[in-house]
This record gives sequence, structure tokens and C-alpha cells, in this order.
Amino acid sequence: MQLAHNELLLTSGWIDGVGIDSARQFTVVNPATLQVVAEVSDLDASHVRDAIAAASRALARWKDAPLEERLTAIHRWAELISRNVADLATIICAENGKPLREAKGEILQCAALLRWFAERAEYLQGTDLPTQDSGQRNSTIKQPIGVVACITPWNFPAAAVIVKAGAAIATGCTTIVKPSDATPLIALAFARLAERAGIPAGVYNVLPCKNPADIGHELCISPDVRMLSFTGSTKVGKQLYVACGDTVKRLALELGGNAPFIVFDDADLEKALDGAVGARFYNSGQICVGANRYLVQQGIYTEFATRLAARVAKLRAGDGFDDASDIGPMINRAAIERLSRLVATATSMGAELLTGGGQDDTSTLFFQPTVLAAMTPDMPAYDAEIFGPIACLYEFSDEAEALQMANATQAGLAAYVYSSDARRLERCALALEAGVVGVNSAHIFANDLPFGGIKQSGLGREHGLDCLDEYVEIKSICAAPA
Ligand code: NAD
Repeated sequence: MQLAHNELLLTSGWIDGVGIDSARQFTVVNPATLQVVAEVSDLDASHVRDAIAAASRALARWKDAPLEERLTAIHRWAELISRNVADLATIICAENGKPLREAKGEILQCAALLRWFAERAEYLQGTDLPTQDSGQRNSTIKQPIGVVACITPWNFPAAAVIVKAGAAIATGCTTIVKPSDATPLIALAFARLAERAGIPAGVYNVLPCKNPADIGHELCISPDVRMLSFTGSTKVGKQLYVACGDTVKRLALELGGNAPFIVFDDADLEKALDGAVGARFYNSGQICVGANRYLVQQGIYTEFATRLAARVAKLRAGDGFDDASDIGPMINRAAIERLSRLVATATSMGAELLTGGGQDDTSTLFFQPTVLAAMTPDMPAYDAEIFGPIACLYEFSDEAEALQMANATQAGLAAYVYSSDARRLERCALALEAGVVGVNSAHIFANDLPFGGIKQSGLGREHGLDCLDEYVEIKSICAAPA
């Protein structure tokens, strides 16, 4: 991996502003080439305790630092991230495999998010309330919740870190980031830039590790960690939910999805196809809001399926550093095996393979962009998070059936609906059980738009006008005259 500034490639842990080596290391591999990118320090439970102590010490000053000082540091951090976009995108492309242009977009989004958090920090206000008892003045203030642990996944390895740690730090909290072992390098590169930006030692700590359970346990049981913000699978999220019970931590959980993508007969087909490709194949389909079940009305089903397959057949899976690649590799061999099983089971139960279906070369981690038609709800794929480049098409007859199928899941992250009937769109947007609904649109992210799941897709919201409220405690002060 060639970087203009090699000091951004940090391979030790980062605690209290210092690189931390450890006896053990683990290997980060480029999933596109299977070559070693770096050997990274494998931290353990004792390092977690060090990080909690450092974050607690730093909190004492950072929570009361003048707003101007906090905001200046956050803006500098954003500026440094923007200025180093080429190196930072290279790091993501090497450890995650996604196309370089998508990696650049993710880095620029991180900088934009930090600026947004700095802006919102200026509006973190309490309230003055009408006096209830004569002579008494009641008010509320918002105070940073304290030390925040951030556990993040590999699919958006930069954005998932900044959306948590950036918001927490802008609010006056201190943070301990535990990145995925597949993609620890970008979280570490951010530590180097945070230091240069003037974010004090101990405010942003990073714990790379191969065995997340030990580190996670230590973070969950510590009474000094007041909040856990987790993005990852529903299975692990539920374990952490239980583990945090004893210390009654605040929890923010961004978990898995099973998004329906409904296309009615009267939809603008061209628009629906544009949305359909983006909503499944962006980030190689490794995305929580990915269209997991295409529900297509009878009258348009065959045409939609044929035209979607034609578009998908043109997508090229390849090395993210190659401009010609539309999508990158899967993150690991387990993902390839899971997707291969999904296709084999569905086709054995009657699904029709319209394009793709496997690998051109089984020694790699590339999976062909795939479309499966004639899927039915009894197939395992209906309930599974696909998390790869496979579009699964199901047929429905009327609106009631579409909504019943769409909501027949315990996930509730995203949903999409395409039609030209405004009344129908309004009914569907209200009835779909999801945290975000795309109406004739697959563009469902904006800094000022709250994002998060309902049902078993999570707790809390990221982004949005009130995004920093997740990281505060509201204190009521009831003051009688002295
Ligand atoms: P994962 O749950 O396997 O891992 C997520 C993080 O948790 C990683 O850092 C991992 O090391 C850590 N982890 C794993 N086991 C742990 C344990 N026992 N204790 C503490 N930490 C543990 O998920 P993943 O494979 O990295 O990411 C894919 C999943 O993330 C998908 O289900 C996807 O839908 C979800 N996701 C959700 C959102 C969202 O915003 N809702 C965004 C991105 C990804």
C-alpha cells in the first residue's frame, strides 16, 4: 500500500495519545488480493482498563472545555481528514476492498459529519421553565454522558467510527473505539489526525483486537463506561444489550436489516430500476439498508426481473483500486460460503437464476452480481440478511399483500416503495415498519435526517438535528432563592 504520508499507517493501539504495542499481533488482509496489508497489535482486557482510565481522566477536562476549544479541534480534525482523503481512502480500499471512489466518498462524508456535529454542538441547550412554586426557578441543562465505548463494523469502517466518536467528542464526551479486526487501520489513522487537530490525549482511544468478546465484556461491565454505541449484527447487539444491563448503560444499537423494496405496477420502471441497483449493489451489497427482498407486483414482475438482470449482468466485481470495478470483494471466505449456500438452497427450492450465482474464480473473494427470481417466503433467504450482491425477487398481487410481506420480519431498518399513485405512497410510507422509508427514492441518508432502526434493528438515532442528544444527560435544576 503506497501512502503519501506513511505516518497515517498506525499499527499499534492508541491509548492516552500514545501508540500501544502488544505481545501478540494479528494480520489485516486485503480481501481483493488476499495479500497482507499490515500486522496490528492485538490488545487485551488489561488495555481496555488502561483505556477506560485514560478516557475517564480526559473527561474531567474535556466535558468542561470551552465550546470554542472543542469546536475548533473538531473543525481541524475535519480539515485534516479532507486534506488526507487520498491516503485515507487508500487505507480503506486496502483493508475493506471497496472501490476507491466509494472509499473517497466515505472519507469526505466523515469530514462533513464532523462539521455537522460541530454545528449542532452550538445548539445543545437546556431550557428555562415557568416557575411552579413561588420564588423557585426550574431549568434543565444538558451534560455530556461521559466515557462512550464505540464498537464498529467493517462495512463502513470510517463512517461508523466518526458518526459515533465524532458526535460524542463534539458533545464533550471521551471515547474508546473498538474497530472490526478486518478494518482497524482507518480508525487508527483517525487517531493520528485527531492528535494533530488538537484533540487532547485520552479523548479518542482505539483498541484493535482479534478477539472482540473479551474486550467487549470489559467495556460492558465497567461502571465508568456510561454508554455503548454499537453498529453490527443483530446477534452480537443482543448479547451486548444483555451484558450492559448490570451497569445500566445507555445503549445505541444500529443492527441488521431486511429491507423490502416494493415496486407497484404503476411505478416509473426506469426510476425503480435505478433505485433497485443502487439499493442492493452499492458497497458490494454489504450494507445494512440494502434491498433484501424485492417485492414486485404481478403486472410488471417479468419485465422488471428481465431488465434488472440485464443491468446487474453488466456490473463488474474486481479490485477496488481498479477504476473499472463496480463492486469489490466480500470481506471473507465465510461470506462467500454463506452466499453460495443461499443460492444453492433457493434454486433447489424452485428459484430461477437470472444472472450470476457464484464465483468466476473460487480462489478469490469475488462473488458474481446475482439476480434470483421466483423466490418465495418459505425460502431461508426471506428471513436472512443477505449482505452481498444478490437480488432476490418475490411476486405480489395487491397492496395489502405487499405490506403484509414487507412487514413480516423482526428487522425494521429501511424500506423502499415505488409507485406513481400519491395516495398509495402515503399509505405505504405510514404502514411500513421501518426507521426510514425511501419513497420513489433510494437516497435515504443526509446529515440532518435521523437514521436508525425500529423493532430488532436497533435503538436510538444517528445523524439528524438532535444527533448529539444521544450523548447527553438532561439534568433538572430546581433553585429556590438563596
Ligand atoms: P459483527 O456484529 O460481527 O461485528 C460488529 C463489531 O462487533 C465488530 O467490531 C466486531 O469485532 C464486534 N464484536 C463481535 N462480537 C463481539 C462480542 N462478542 N463482543 C463485543 N464486540 C463484538 O458485524 P459485522 O459483520 O462487522 O457487520 C455486519 C453487520 O453490521 C450486519 O448485520 C449489518 O447489517 C450491520 N450494520 C448495521 C448498520 C446500521 O446502521 N444499522 C450499519 C452497518 C452495519
